[in-house]
Amino acid sequence: AAELVTLGETMALLAAPRVGLLRHMHSLDLSVAGAESNLAIGVSRLGRRAAWLSRVGDDEFGRLVTATIRAEGVAVYAAVDGTAPTGLMVKERRTDTATRVQYYRSGSAASRLSPSDVDESLVRAARVLHVTGITPALSGTARDAVHAAVEAARGAGVAVSLDLNYRAALWDAATAGAELRELVARADIVFATGPEARLVVSGDDEAALAAELAKLGPRQVLVKRGSRGVVGLLDGTGYDLPAKPVRAVDPVGAGDAFASAYLTEWIGGTAPEGCLHAATVAGAFAVTVPGDWEGLPSRAELDLLGADSDDDVQ
Ligand code: ATP
Repeated sequence: AAELVTLGETMALLAAPRVGLLRHMHSLDLSVAGAESNLAIGVSRLGRRAAWLSRVGDDEFGRLVTATIRAEGVAVYAAVDGTAPTGLMVKERRTDTATRVQYYRSGSAASRLSPSDVDESLVRAARVLHVTGITPALSGTARDAVHAAVEAARGAGVAVSLDLNYRAALWDAATAGAELRELVARADIVFATGPEARLVVSGDDEAALAAELAKLGPRQVLVKRGSRGVVGLLDGTGYDLPAKPVRAVDPVGAGDAFASAYLTEWIGGTAPEGCLHAATVAGAFAVTVPGDWEGLPSRAELDLLGADSDDDVQ
């Protein structure tokens, strides 16, 4: 059985190969994108069994999504919906560092996720259920699916991990804040950035935000600060870890990489410092390559960049 189960939408990704307006591109690079599948791939590459639940359209993009995730060793449970398309995401590179994202996902197959797509026996047999703030924003039934999975996990003593992952294109801050607050209260492990945490609680800095989030219930709270590292409040103990200095080419995907390594280590029984260290190294790996998940490290690579004596991957 899978040690980590997650659910969510993965889209086909059409990415501009160079800087400029989309209309001037002669071709787009085809890949896949989805926070939850990124996380599952990260866990799989680090050597733990991961499962991903979703829906895809009966189309080439859907087959690309499932084939790509399967090829990374993740167990894929994706219903094929013959009446709705696989969602699309288009990525434009407007400047060297600024990317613009456009979704074609409303009404997608995955937006029709519902509680009947949640294999509760799979969830109950896992060590961790990981959900994000993206899925409840997709539709009412997708929100219900998240809650069904969370309740199945809680009922079986399976740890619930939540990445707030706010997507402004999908819902407004007030609606998101109310929903995320409910989910935080049901989670054991919470990942957030400072601005995401502020949708739910208030606080002067990341440590204060972590403390406020922990008051809602979760025993492990991680507030991420990009190139400035992370603040953690883990079973009542505060941690503050700097990021690994690397040359960042694409910041997207750092959060998923961070969470995947943290959860992998936690499943393995690693002490808090070790979980945070592995997560920090994986986050650094993710920003060194253009794709969202392609740069996710294997266990051997984690040790390579993680070695204190030498931060360069040769
Ligand atoms: P995403 O851009 O994927 O949504 P996020 O905003 O959720 O990411 P970040 O805070 O950007 O999360 O990154 C998570 C972790 O990854 C950080 O805490 C840090 O350890 C690492 N990280 C992020 N950016 C960098 C960077 N430029 N250099 C080194 N490490 C980084």
